[in-house]
Amino acid sequence: MATAHLYPWQHDLWTSVTNRVTNQRLPHALLLTGPAETGRQTFASLLSNYMVCRHKTENMPCGSCKDCLLFQADTHPDLVNIFPEAAFKQIRIDQVRDMATFLGCHSNQGGYRVITISPAENMNINAANALLKTLEEPGKDILIMLIAQRPERLLATIRSRCQQLRFPLPNKDIATTWLKEQLPEYTDIASVLEMAQGRPLAALRYVHENFKEKCVLLISGLKAILSAEQPLTEISLSWKELDSLFIFEWMLFAVTTIVRYKMTHQVSVLPAWLQDDAFLTLINHASATTLMEYYCWLTESYGLLVRQINLNTQLLNEALLIHWQKILLRVG
Ligand SMILES: [Zn+2]
Repeated sequence: MATAHLYPWQHDLWTSVTNRVTNQRLPHALLLTGPAETGRQTFASLLSNYMVCRHKTENMPCGSCKDCLLFQADTHPDLVNIFPEAAFKQIRIDQVRDMATFLGCHSNQGGYRVITISPAENMNINAANALLKTLEEPGKDILIMLIAQRPERLLATIRSRCQQLRFPLPNKDIATTWLKEQLPEYTDIASVLEMAQGRPLAALRYVHENFKEKCVLLISGLKAILSAEQPLTEISLSWKELDSLFIFEWMLFAVTTIVRYKMTHQVSVLPAWLQDDAFLTLINHASATTLMEYYCWLTESYGLLVRQINLNTQLLNEALLIHWQKILLRVG
C-alpha cells in the first residue's frame, strides 16, 4: 500500500510546491536533490497523490476520492515509478521507453500523469538520452520527478530541463523530536542521529537494524586489535555480515568524536565505549595529524562506497583496521 505523508521538517518545502500547483506555476519536471534517507521519496509519493487527487483540501490530497484510493492501493494507472530492477543496477532504456509510450497515450483518469525516476543517476546513457527527448516535449498535465543524491552525475542537458528542489538536512531539534517520538524507549538519540550524519530516516533504520548489536561487534573488533589477541583478517571476517557503508559511517563518527576530544579535552564528547581506559590512554597519545589523515582516508573511501564503485569490501574493511591499528599502536 502506498504511503503519503509529510515529515515535520518538510512543511515549508511542501507549501512552496503546492503553492506553485495552485498558481499553475509547477514546471513539468522536478529534480529532487539532497542526502538520502531524509524523506525525498515519501515527499515525491505525496506529491504524486496530490497531483492526481480531485478534491484537494488545504494543500493535501483528500485521501478518499477514487484517485486517492487507487493511489493507496498502488494501482493508479496514471502514476508510474521507475527504479533499477535490483540495488546498484542501472535503469535501462526500455524502462524509459515504456514511460514515453505511456506519456504518448491519454490519461486514464483524465487528470495529471506523474512519473518518478529514482535514483535518477542510475540511468545508463541510453536511458538518459531517451529521457531527454521526453523532457523536450513532455505534453500537457504531466509531471516528471527525478530523485537524485548525486545530480552532478546526470547529463547537464537533463538538469537544465528540470527545476531543482533541494532537500536540506533537517533541523537537528526537529529531527531529534521526531526520532524521540518514533523511538520512545531508545536513550541515545543524539549519537545515532550524529552517526547517521543528521539523516533521521537513516538513524531510525540503524536502530531497527540492531544498531546496538552491530556496535558491540565493531567495538570488540577494535578492542581485539589493541590486545593483539586476534589476527586482523579474522576480525575483518567477523564483520563480513555488516554493511560496509554502516561500518564506515560508524568509524567516521568515532574518529570525528576523537578529533573533537583532542581539541576540547572533554571526555564527555566521546561515546561511552571510547571512554574505556584502554582506548582513552591510546587516544591521548595518538597524534592529531595522523587522526586527521585517517579521517580523510575514511571520507574518501566512504565516498567510493556511496558512489557504488565496485570495491572489494573485505579488503576495504581490512584497510580500515590496519589504519586504526597504526594510529593507536603506532605500528609501522
Ligand atoms: Zn483525493
